[in-house]
Amino acid sequence: MAMVYCRGCGKEIHETAPTCPNCGAPQVTPDDAPGGTTKRILPAFLLCFFLGWAGAHRFYVGKIGTGILQLVTFGGLGIWALIDFIMIIVGAFRDKHGVKLTQWT
Ligand SMILES: [Zn+2]
Repeated sequence: MAMVYCRGCGKEIHETAPTCPNCGAPQVTPDDAPGGTTKRILPAFLLCFFLGWAGAHRFYVGKIGTGILQLVTFGGLGIWALIDFIMIIVGAFRDKHGVKLTQWT
């Protein structure tokens, strides 16, 4: 489990925490636009289509843990990858911060 330092109070918090449990300051990583995500649907769509069985689209949005899980299970024997594929198309797929991918490019 990776830990980061709060931008507000400097206390150590978990990197996936959307806000600091100590001071309530929102935690935004540099690669993310405020209130959104820099990840786009099109790359995720292509990665899932060609390499969905390897969890490539999950690695793309930063979900390394479940990406590895998909890799070793071959995308949940294709079913999990297919579900993700549908989620990506309908704009319901989320990045590691829980932000939905809503823009194609
Ligand atoms: Zn804090």
